[in-house]
Amino acid sequence: MSRILLVEDNEMNRDMLSRRLMRKGYEVSMAEDGQQAIDAARQNPPDIILMDMSLPVIDGWEATRLLKQFPDTAPIPVVALTAHALSDDREKAARAGCDAYETKPIDLPRLVATIERLLASRGAPGGTL
Ligand code: MN
Repeated sequence: MSRILLVEDNEMNRDMLSRRLMRKGYEVSMAEDGQQAIDAARQNPPDIILMDMSLPVIDGWEATRLLKQFPDTAPIPVVALTAHALSDDREKAARAGCDAYETKPIDLPRLVATIERLLASRGAPGGTL
């Protein structure tokens, strides 16, 4: 069973998305801000991280940059979840080290396809964004 770390500060979004992912068969742990995400990922590395970008304490952009600097967390794929459909967000996500990018509201079948693609290609060189 693949283990997902879901990082989302909005309780309603967190509860809803985690339940939907668990129904798909994933094991889901959660963090509410960027610092919690870094601590959780270093303590018990998940298979993949879904990272809201707008987060308190440390935002998703900075948390991803930091995670990609630690050798123990750098290989973990990070999917950026952003409410903004701005054209430069994709580039910004790539610069931060995100492996993929999904806009809110989350399209679950599309998100699951992205998760499965990243889990399948994990360890392969180069980004997929
Ligand atoms: Mn947020």
